[in-house]
Amino acid sequence: MPEINRNKPILVTGGAGYIASWIIKFLLEDGFNVRATVRNKSEEKKIAHLTQLSQKHPGKLELYEADLMKQGSFLNAIRDCELILHTASPFFIDGIKNAQKELIEPAVNGTKNVLEAVNESPSVKRVVLTSSVAAVMGDNIDAKDSPGNRLNEESWNVTSSLTHQPYAYSKTLAEREAWRIHDAQSRWDLVTINPSFVLGPSVSDRGDGTSVNFMRSMVNGKFAPGVPDMMMGIVDVRDVAKAHIAAGLTPTAKGRHLTTAKTLSFVEVAKILKDHYGKKYKIPTSTIPKLVTYIIGPFFGLSWEHISKNVGVPFDLDNSYSIKDLGITYRPVSETLVEHIEQLAASKMV
Ligand code: NAP
Repeated sequence: MPEINRNKPILVTGGAGYIASWIIKFLLEDGFNVRATVRNKSEEKKIAHLTQLSQKHPGKLELYEADLMKQGSFLNAIRDCELILHTASPFFIDGIKNAQKELIEPAVNGTKNVLEAVNESPSVKRVVLTSSVAAVMGDNIDAKDSPGNRLNEESWNVTSSLTHQPYAYSKTLAEREAWRIHDAQSRWDLVTINPSFVLGPSVSDRGDGTSVNFMRSMVNGKFAPGVPDMMMGIVDVRDVAKAHIAAGLTPTAKGRHLTTAKTLSFVEVAKILKDHYGKKYKIPTSTIPKLVTYIIGPFFGLSWEHISKNVGVPFDLDNSYSIKDLGITYRPVSETLVEHIEQLAASKMV
């Protein structure tokens, strides 16, 4: 891909979101002209941090309204842009009533809408899609036949469905759809960022995100009796934002990128927090046995199928390609966790 013209605006979709807000902040600090889509410009509280960023960088940030479910709604925002960073997609794993309507349709039709608008906009040279590790694997058990239980970008999630891990299914279908639309043309190229679980301080004080909820539950007593014996990949939100920018601006960047710093168990996460905070918060100190997880798991939204395929099942993620292709340096997870709690405490959210 030829170099992106640094004077052209860069579009970030889902601009008020947790990851997108850091991307926008970094782009503005680097002097770029930024466009961001939000669902509703009159939701002042939700976009307050973008208003503040706009005041800090006068004339550099423009907000557009667009909804993943409204065909053509991204066209105006995309016009004249060479680089599109498409982060918008519903991200929640609890309280799903209708997975098709709440997750699959916005993720897949939204990606289609954005990329069809890209096809209609001759200025676009590159699209960076925020996919997920969830498009690489569904359950930890998916890694059982890989050396060291370690997966890389060559894997695709083939185990999630509408009824089991529907969020992971939405991300898998959306990324597949993106590659399909990309492969049918040759004018713009596609690079994906596939983050593991993203943690770290937010630019905003929004408390409705899955990442924020997880961190709150590690210190507010929800897990006080113990955590399930589960592992997860963790990455800092600021590193994920920088990965998007590198993926957009590095002409040679190519393909999928597992963006993850380290794979840790829940109890290892708790230990890092306990070592730092001592008795200040109700941080769990132990793991609950798998049998007990089967009994109480459903009260925490964990199905038996989920428990059997994830609890006590090791896995790991290979981040070497993202380091090599995008030049990322991942910050230590301890820094991510502590800075996240510090920010939640400053915002009186823990
Ligand atoms: P987030 O704060 O919930 O951001 C999601 C964004 O998508 C929000 O800006 C939201 O808009 C937007 N969105 C949802 N439905 C929409 C619709 N119908 N029309 C327009 N916009 C819509 O969560 P996030 O963590 O930043 O997620 C951003 C991306 O990263 C998502 O694609 C997610 O799947 C991916 N991801 C996240 C993680 C993680 O651990 N956080 C890990 C891997 C991948 P509103 O602001 O209006 O709600």
